[in-house]
Amino acid sequence: MSRWILSFLGAYVGQAVGTLALFGLVFLITRRWAARALEGRRIITRGSGSDRSQLFHEIGHTLVVFAVGTAQAMAVQTLHENGETKLIEGLGPWGLGGAIGAFVGLILFNDLWFYSVHRLLHSPFLYKHIHSVHHRSIDVNPFSSYSFHLIEAILVTGWVLPAAMFIPFPLPVLMFTQGVGLANNLMAHLGYELLPRWWVDVPILRWSNSATFHSMHHARFKGNYGLFLRVWDRLFGTELDQYEETFARAHPPKA
Ligand SMILES: [Zn+2]
Ligand SMILES: [Zn+2]
Repeated sequence: MSRWILSFLGAYVGQAVGTLALFGLVFLITRRWAARALEGRRIITRGSGSDRSQLFHEIGHTLVVFAVGTAQAMAVQTLHENGETKLIEGLGPWGLGGAIGAFVGLILFNDLWFYSVHRLLHSPFLYKHIHSVHHRSIDVNPFSSYSFHLIEAILVTGWVLPAAMFIPFPLPVLMFTQGVGLANNLMAHLGYELLPRWWVDVPILRWSNSATFHSMHHARFKGNYGLFLRVWDRLFGTELDQYEETFARAHPPKA
């Protein structure tokens, strides 16, 4: 047991220090070092910027959420080592093509799960007691990305353990999807639109999420619930109006 606690602490400190350093670096690049160059890409919402109390709130909750993430990753790893998951080492019997298909399927499923849980979290009771922690951040920044209530962290990632136990899935795909999830979450909470202006005019690309899409969720609370894709919001009629106009405004005027 003490060995488990020690490896938990090692993994937790590694994840917390590494990820917070990454968030801090992106924060400094966007808000300090490249602030002037990125001025035209600031997503203007009704927020008034990230103050010190918001940052303390975000980092405190992020440290709790990372404990959930580390415990979950270790649970999957321990079950896998004991032969109690269906996870496949390597790319699996269908090679790279199968792994890419599995990745696309996992992104679609993951986002539909997130969309459903997120809409549920906006019901009055759950919003008041759980999801309001995340919406303390109106003008978002990298440290808003994992600023959740403990229960929300458990609900949002609730599919991972059952999926690992019952679905034969390539392990590298699951790990890669987690990495893409972190990058996507960070992008969604940048507060700056780094995607090119033409992004929303190109078929397929335009159905992906953007920093503008999620910033609008933080500014207007209801609508734009997806995190990877616009697809579910379009399908279920919850996409906020003026999305593409707001996206265009987060770009410097054409010369
Ligand atoms: Zn929300
Ligand atoms: Zn958010």
